[in-house]
Amino acid sequence: MILIIGAGIAGITLARLFADKGKEVMLVDRRDFIGGLCYDYLDKGIFVQQYGPHIFHTNNDRVWKFVNNYAAFNDYTHTVIAMVNGREVNLPMCIKSIYDFYGLDNYEEATVRFNQSFIKPKKDSQYKSTYSFLIDRYGKDYTDSILKPYSEKVWDCVIDDLPTNIFERIPIRNNFDTRYFVDGFQGMPRNGFTDMMRDMLDSTKISILLGTSMDYQHALDMKPDLIINTGYLDSFFNYCYGKLKYIKLDFEVVDVPDLKFYQRSSVFNYPKGTFFRRTEFKHFYPERKAYNTHGTIYMKEFVGGKEICYPSPRLQDREDAQKYLDLAAEKKVYCCGRFGSYQYLNMDSVILKAMELVDTLTS
Ligand SMILES: Cc1cc2nc3c(=O)[nH]c(=O)nc-3n(C[C@H](O)[C@H](O)[C@H](O)COP(=O)(O)OP(=O)(O)OC[C@H]3O[C@@H](n4cnc5c(N)ncnc54)[C@H](O)[C@@H]3O)c2cc1C
Repeated sequence: MILIIGAGIAGITLARLFADKGKEVMLVDRRDFIGGLCYDYLDKGIFVQQYGPHIFHTNNDRVWKFVNNYAAFNDYTHTVIAMVNGREVNLPMCIKSIYDFYGLDNYEEATVRFNQSFIKPKKDSQYKSTYSFLIDRYGKDYTDSILKPYSEKVWDCVIDDLPTNIFERIPIRNNFDTRYFVDGFQGMPRNGFTDMMRDMLDSTKISILLGTSMDYQHALDMKPDLIINTGYLDSFFNYCYGKLKYIKLDFEVVDVPDLKFYQRSSVFNYPKGTFFRRTEFKHFYPERKAYNTHGTIYMKEFVGGKEICYPSPRLQDREDAQKYLDLAAEKKVYCCGRFGSYQYLNMDSVILKAMELVDTLTS
């Protein structure tokens, strides 16, 4: 039997792929429901995502084919708007954002501003600090009003504690493309993420044990042939090297019965103020009946809650996690997923890494 700890998208993908290869799987989660951070549920015909907005996007054909075996996807295209000094600015930065950011109304002025703000980056090692990297790469206005305050809020630290590599993937577009993701495939599973994951688990080879927190000793007691941990590394090993740093969030869901829409787009980011993001879920599913009727639901996200949502990107915290990863390797526990590997991974990367692990272990 293969024992998999954690029934998020990582554990569920692993379970499905092993089951397809004829292996018996036991999937365990400390929560009473499957899905981990991707868990969603229906409320008044609206899919509410319990742990914040999740949009599926990938460039990987294999991953896209895999998820399409278990769900049909709509063609939702994600956009994000930041609220800056009362102005709505599309992210990532493009020429349209420059218009809105500076309150401009002509293309010439916007392109001049764009060229003034976005200077060609130097090599990473030449920067004295993350802040100076951002200023050089994105300009002072964008850095001071969006990047710095938003990142400090979300990552719960000062900007210079963050490595520059987490910013390198933020694009700057010399055009009017306001899509947040430009991957070849993106969309939302038409019946929600939980339904998709439930379908993945539809196999007689998979047993599921919910409401059970499992540590290493408990896992050994089950006498499995193989242990794969996709859960939190520190609690699995009984905090033997201390607690790891996680970014924890709190989610406030607000029901607005008398409005058709609360905001004009699914996601608004707030660099200033108590919460960092507001999501109105209806926008993800324009094809659903609830989209056109009155009543809407939005969510505000706050840093500092109780739900473990991100591994920390700080170097020191990654080094602390490495001790647990080394211990896992020594004990022949395979690690996968966002928390099992202590990496900032999106769903598609989690699925791909799960596929690669199954390929390796069954070849
Ligand atoms: C706010 C937010 C927005 C996001 N938006 C996107 C997005 O738009 N697109 C995208 O692709 N990705 C997004 N992500 C990332 C996505 O959530 C993750 O890539 C994915 O959910 C990780 O899956 P996982 O199975 O590795 O981890 P999880 O979903 O966290 O699953 C791990 C499971 O392990 C369980 N567990 C932990 N320890 C134990 C234990 N000792 N015993 C038993 N069970 C245990 C937990 O209860 C949990 O259910 C977002 C993440 C967050 C937080």
